[in-house]
Amino acid sequence: MSAAYDALLKRARELALLGSTSSLLQWDQETFMPDRANAWRAEQLAHLAGLIHRLWTADEVGRWIAECEAEGLASDSDAAVNVREWRRSYDRATKLPSALVEECSKTEALAHQAWVEARASSRFAVFEPLLERLIELARRKADLWGYPESPYDALLDAYEPGATTAEVHRLFEDLAPRLSALAAKGVRAQEAHPAPSLPPGPYPVAAQQAFNREVAAALGFDFQAGRIDTAAHPFCTGLGPRDCRLTTRYDETDFTSSLYGVMHEVGHGLYDQGLPEAHYGTPCGEAVSLGVHESQSRLWENHVGRSRTFWEHWFPRAVHHFPQLAASSPEALWRHVNRIERTFIRVEADEVTYDLHIILRFRIERRLMEGELEARDVPAYWNESFEQLLGLRVPDDARGCLQDIHWSMGGFGYFPTYTLGNLNAAMLMRAAVAALPGLEAELASGNYAGLRAWLKETIHAHGMRYRAGDLIERAVGAPVTPQAHLDHLRSKVAAVGS
Ligand code: ZN
Repeated sequence: MSAAYDALLKRARELALLGSTSSLLQWDQETFMPDRANAWRAEQLAHLAGLIHRLWTADEVGRWIAECEAEGLASDSDAAVNVREWRRSYDRATKLPSALVEECSKTEALAHQAWVEARASSRFAVFEPLLERLIELARRKADLWGYPESPYDALLDAYEPGATTAEVHRLFEDLAPRLSALAAKGVRAQEAHPAPSLPPGPYPVAAQQAFNREVAAALGFDFQAGRIDTAAHPFCTGLGPRDCRLTTRYDETDFTSSLYGVMHEVGHGLYDQGLPEAHYGTPCGEAVSLGVHESQSRLWENHVGRSRTFWEHWFPRAVHHFPQLAASSPEALWRHVNRIERTFIRVEADEVTYDLHIILRFRIERRLMEGELEARDVPAYWNESFEQLLGLRVPDDARGCLQDIHWSMGGFGYFPTYTLGNLNAAMLMRAAVAALPGLEAELASGNYAGLRAWLKETIHAHGMRYRAGDLIERAVGAPVTPQAHLDHLRSKVAAVGS
């Protein structure tokens, strides 16, 4: 391999060391760090971020990439994959002038404060001027990055490389009316067959931790190369090739909240632990997109964890950890974790209504970036669309357009990846059942090795070799459509109603 490629590999490794150190500091900030350490931690993180940015946007990096491109690498080689992705990332990082990057981070800091205040008092007016500036900055960034059709393409590309606004629009608008009808049907089915409530708590945290750990280990999470800790918001972060950290939170009245948090994050963690270790720190060893990452978490959480057979298998172990469950049954637990109800809050939404929350956000973001909507129009548009999609009248902006943190961080383009994850998960699960005879019997007996190995082989092992859509298409043998997801939700609604 050429000297330029070797230099890039060396730089990538240096950046992986710095980046994973920064992730470790962030993980500590969310889990164990004392409050008064916050200011120093912010300086540490800002210093590392600046260093990483300087090392990656240096002139020599651009020169090395250009030299590699001039060599004409075989298109399917690891080197070609890495150079292609390095080019993409270098261009994104260098096309923005540093004054604009600074303005973004200052505005985001102010916007975050304003958003916290606005949400607490449900006053959109407090957030509106900052939202307006964030939208303006996002449009400027999109113009500098460039895009094929819509400025939103350039923003989406940060989270879902290769996806286009037109394609997401087509998928989501195809899904919306069918999902609205299904949600209405699901809510009626649920009302006719209410889920029995859980036996009263407490469900002690220590018992929840023991049960969660048992389930996570059975799913295949490697505790020699990872941990589960407690944080206000569950997340998964990779701190190195053999160091994957998950978090969850506990509710002593309902053990299933931490359990499903863990199963979701284990899905992300298995992707992390399944990436090719030899390529750590280079695109061949990185996750391809958020929409594929989310497919892994939703597959384990929803398709495996919310199935009837999951509770038939795990019920005795749950009773072992929580003796009061002896008065319950696998069927009752299954019903409990599959309740369908309309809610204002996305993060509390069930599988059937969840995507409607995402479609609403995508509609707004796309219009904001294409200039069809301005910051001041957001609450009215939100409330009208919410009622149209979910049939509920939004009582205040705290339970409406102020509920999510994403926009206050300038994260336009992130939301669609949640629903893309759901569509991908359903297609992957269907393909796994078809590819692995006996899979359903294995899952029913608590044997998850076959499914895990199939996901590793079809998804994890490829790193960023293929674009997300192509990777899924290779794995399932068809382009991404909402059909498998809709079929999954339809059978869920039918089961809940019977
Ligand atoms: Zn997730």
